[in-house]
Amino acid sequence: MAGFDYDLFVIGAGSGGVRASRIAASHGAKVAVAEEFRVGGTCVIRGCVPKKLLVYASHFAHSLHDAPTYGWTIEGQSFDWAKLRDFVASDVDRLERAYTSTLDSNKVEHFHERATVAGPNTVRLASGREISAKVILIAVGAWPVLPDFAGVEHCITSNEVFNLPELPKRVVIQGAGYIALEFAGVFNALGSQVTVVNRSDKILRGYDHDLTDRLLPILQARGIEFGFNRPIRAVEKQADGSLLVHGGEGEPIVADVVLVATGRRPKTDGLGLENVGIALGRNGEVPVDAYNQSACPSIYAVGDVTDRVQLTPVAIREGHAFADTVFGAMPRTTAYDHIPSAVFTQPPIAAVGLTEAEARANYREIKVFKSDFRPMQNMFSDVAERGYYKLVVDGATDRVLGVHMLSPDAPEILQAAAIAVKAGLTKAQFDATVALHPSMAEELVLMR
Ligand code: NDP
Repeated sequence: MAGFDYDLFVIGAGSGGVRASRIAASHGAKVAVAEEFRVGGTCVIRGCVPKKLLVYASHFAHSLHDAPTYGWTIEGQSFDWAKLRDFVASDVDRLERAYTSTLDSNKVEHFHERATVAGPNTVRLASGREISAKVILIAVGAWPVLPDFAGVEHCITSNEVFNLPELPKRVVIQGAGYIALEFAGVFNALGSQVTVVNRSDKILRGYDHDLTDRLLPILQARGIEFGFNRPIRAVEKQADGSLLVHGGEGEPIVADVVLVATGRRPKTDGLGLENVGIALGRNGEVPVDAYNQSACPSIYAVGDVTDRVQLTPVAIREGHAFADTVFGAMPRTTAYDHIPSAVFTQPPIAAVGLTEAEARANYREIKVFKSDFRPMQNMFSDVAERGYYKLVVDGATDRVLGVHMLSPDAPEILQAAAIAVKAGLTKAQFDATVALHPSMAEELVLMR
């Protein structure tokens, strides 16, 4: 480490940065990390974790709806947003403490201030202090993109949605991707009137169309309104505090909260990367090679700031691979094929591998197996929602190329199916597996 304050200085204590810090320290490196907001990053502080807790909370609405059919009489039901919000916030506090103690127990020094890059081996803290490091890791994540329309300052993003003072009666959500539809489900279940407006006529672009085509009418039947080809043109604040949302051809929509969820962009503004000859990519990302190394050899980047796959487990793998490569003498890259993903809509969808369209574009002969079923848990319910699973198979080798699921608990089931797809198992091997009955998951081995 001759001449440097640290072996590694990490900018950003999110999923990728914390994992990289911990592993580098375990390899014997002297490590420091700077974080301008809270230890844990988007996933822990204002993303996956608090979102999932809200999803769990909203499931009670469905269970309470079905409860009388199962013989339960529940009187005096009520819902308290402030109680839920504060519980979620307290769990986020707990996780932040856990992340901080991980850094402490690995002797990673942390600075609670913004850091920028001042040179190939120098970072500058907001306080003005300069620190040298043999290697710098950029792990600053991404930030919500706000489209340019009048009144956008009246809107919120997923950064603010967890702290609302009260449950909004009317919510307009712009976008029809992950964040938009997950929060549409949460607010809808908790009792808000929800309208989703999107610039296109698609939802969840990137997922298999058979799934999204089935999901949309389910969400509509649950009461979520959709306005397609209707980008917001303006949001106007009215005297009573409500918001008028202009866009498309119809009447403006009245809302108490407008949530904008139109993608996330690498948070590289003002980071000083131009000081070290790193040309940012089109979306503001730090371009890196397979070993996470940037154009400046002493500077690496992992996670959302590289704009490869914006998912927490991927950032964690990249951070781990970086630390093993640079400080553990174990060069490792991250595999980007067969990454499972899920959208926690209600019901959720989950998928791994190729969609039918992707497979058809890349393979000569494709076989598709489908199961359209009524989940047992809906049998007693007046909710007629159906589940749908789909296997995409290479006709030449019988290998399963993709698994796509729409059903309650799909994400929980999909993780195991992802192992099979990653392992290259064939449809015959799926079929040779005895069904686990009665379950929804058994559909995976019963498709003929
Ligand atoms: P997404 O990319 O999922 O969706 C963006 C939506 O906004 C799309 O419907 C898109 O429309 C629309 N849109 C994009 N740009 C504009 C624009 N300039 N003006 C108007 N509309 C626009 O982004 P999210 O913000 O929902 O999520 C960001 C990322 O966070 C995701 O990609 C995902 O990687 C991650 N995430 C993952 C979760 C999970 O794993 N469950 C949960 C939450 C986030 P269209 O495509 O129809 O043109």
